[in-house]
Amino acid sequence: MYLTGVGPSRAKVLKEETGIHTVGDLALYFPFKHIDRTRIYYAHELTADMPFVQLRGRILSFEQEGKGRKQRLVAHFTDGHGVVDLVWFNGHKYVQNSYKLEHEYIVFGKPTYFNGRFNITHPDIDDASTLTLSTMGMQPFYSIPEKAKKRGMTSRTIERLTNTLFRQNSISFPETLAESIVHRLLLMDREQAVRTMHYPESADQLSRASYRLKLEELFYIQLGILGVAKKRQEEVHGIPCPRVGTHFLRFFHDRLPFTLTGAQKRVIKEMQADMKSGRQMNRLLQGDVGSGKTLVALMVMLLAIDNGLQTCIMAPTEILAEQHLATFRKMLGDMPLRVELLTGIVKGKKRKAVLEGLSSGEIHILVGTHAIIEDGVEFKNLGLVIIDEQHRFGVAQRARLWKKNVVPPHVLVMTATPIPRTLAMTLYGDLEVSIIDELPPGRKPITTVHRYENRIMSVYDGIRHEVALGRQVYVVYPLITESEKLSLKNLEEGYDTLCQVFPDYKISKVHGRMKAADKDAEMQRFASGETQILVSTTVIEVGVNVPNASVMVIENAERFGLAQLHQLRGRVGRGAEQSYCILVTKYELSAETRKRIQIMTETNDGFEIAEADLKFRGPGDLEGTAQSGTAFELRVANLARDGQIVQLARETAREVIEQDPLRQSPCYALCWQHLAELGREGQDWSLIL
Ligand code: ADP
Ligand code: MG
Repeated sequence: MYLTGVGPSRAKVLKEETGIHTVGDLALYFPFKHIDRTRIYYAHELTADMPFVQLRGRILSFEQEGKGRKQRLVAHFTDGHGVVDLVWFNGHKYVQNSYKLEHEYIVFGKPTYFNGRFNITHPDIDDASTLTLSTMGMQPFYSIPEKAKKRGMTSRTIERLTNTLFRQNSISFPETLAESIVHRLLLMDREQAVRTMHYPESADQLSRASYRLKLEELFYIQLGILGVAKKRQEEVHGIPCPRVGTHFLRFFHDRLPFTLTGAQKRVIKEMQADMKSGRQMNRLLQGDVGSGKTLVALMVMLLAIDNGLQTCIMAPTEILAEQHLATFRKMLGDMPLRVELLTGIVKGKKRKAVLEGLSSGEIHILVGTHAIIEDGVEFKNLGLVIIDEQHRFGVAQRARLWKKNVVPPHVLVMTATPIPRTLAMTLYGDLEVSIIDELPPGRKPITTVHRYENRIMSVYDGIRHEVALGRQVYVVYPLITESEKLSLKNLEEGYDTLCQVFPDYKISKVHGRMKAADKDAEMQRFASGETQILVSTTVIEVGVNVPNASVMVIENAERFGLAQLHQLRGRVGRGAEQSYCILVTKYELSAETRKRIQIMTETNDGFEIAEADLKFRGPGDLEGTAQSGTAFELRVANLARDGQIVQLARETAREVIEQDPLRQSPCYALCWQHLAELGREGQDWSLIL
């Protein structure tokens, strides 16, 4: 309120709708774009492909044109070099009262060519004589929340305020980065950067300013993450697992159904090194769909078991948990190990028996869903926790698993699909990373094609062909939320159609609204080969493994994100046969969707797809990132675009931690102090302790 131009009512709107409470908040409310207003054009210079332009001249007359919904107010405007029509579709009265004829104005907007003349619709108009704002330089544009707009606020409102703020010069922005960092990285100082973000002298200056602020922002995130990781390393003693014992070796020599890929061997070694180091393992295992993470998980569990520990693996769905249980039991065969299941549907006597087995230490491997993290599930000696397909779990849920033993267990997080590097560095920045960058041998790349829905008959022909060869087929319908009635109808209709088209086939149907037991029975029928087609929603998205299935048909593929499409596609191509993924869409597609589908048809590489996905959607929308909160509330940086800066910020933070491990060097005092002020250390990531 002490800033010129802010009265009580404006202060209220600012505070309620934009979160601006203080002058400092205002200064950090950066514009989302600038428009170069350094040049005034002449009317005869205009062309239809020009972006925004400004003209200086007078309004000759006002006129109402058109009728009904097309009615508009037109002002004939001239600068002496030609006439341009200024057009308004609403607010006619207000406009006519606001602007005088034969008065000099600066008009600003995008020219379009229409009816033999240039038009500017809803132009910005300023009195040429009172132009004191940034009009003659780079003009800032601020994004204004809808609600604030309804209460009369515009970009111009904020512009006037920031203009006053920086002219009054009553506020300073102290440096937050150590001088040595500013120096070495040739950064703009903070005060200048903040100013420049609003009122740059040139595009070049602007990019230097934003570079500096991005680096600062990302640096403090990394300093927080790496600081916590280091503390944890020093303070938390891991459960030592020095032995490679009989179970592991027996499995390796006698029971391994195939030879491990080089990448599988490498990551198992990395984890073994962690577990015997005396420190707590905190590792992220990244691998593409079908790269064989499950087997790695089992072998790492055997390592822990050989050291007298219990293990558990937590999956995001019941279907997947049950599948893991079956896989593990089958793979272990007659080895003397007890593997049990704990999910929401394990109740009564069964549940009691499992809980007893856990607390007595008789159960070696517990497979389950988030039912595992409930209170009352107690282990005798839990030594290793594996979280499969992590993106389904929140950070807080992760934390609860840590507490299941006095000494925190080793932790392995496995991802369903690869995550882009910059995202991994932020979201899982405190974890060591292992990557399986090799698929098991003999896999034929999945052939992916795009079909419009009016060609569905040819898709059915393809299905018929594959089933005749003894293969099985998935048909997936989108179900964005489990309660969405429309999608359910799609699925039911699709099921009926398929029953009609293929009267001789047996067809299973699975969706999230079914009882768990029914769901399970249907999955079982498909997995055993009793049914040829499985019609389902995305409940089968993650992890389901039926190697005989060779066709994945995805209906309404336009409604899925890239990561999801890739994950679904990963359900086929698991056996030795050539597999197919058919993306069925409607005919009209947005350019972005078309691009998405194209990427799917061009590559099978999950790492490539993850990068593309991040670029398309931005980190905030990526699956599973919603719950991660603070990590993505970035003011200036953008994880999709600023990968290199993330990298540099991380390296810089690492150097600071290495050079000043005790946080006592005057050189970095500023950094530690600012980190503490941000309160970032101790949020989110510390929960992992
Ligand atoms: P994901 O990494 O997606 O979880 P899975 O662990 O489900 O992949 O493995 C996919 C398939 O590959 C499974 O059928 C599994 O048995 C098989 N598999 C895993 N490792 C190998 C290997 N080294 N050689 C051959 N097949 C393998
Ligand atoms: Mg898996």
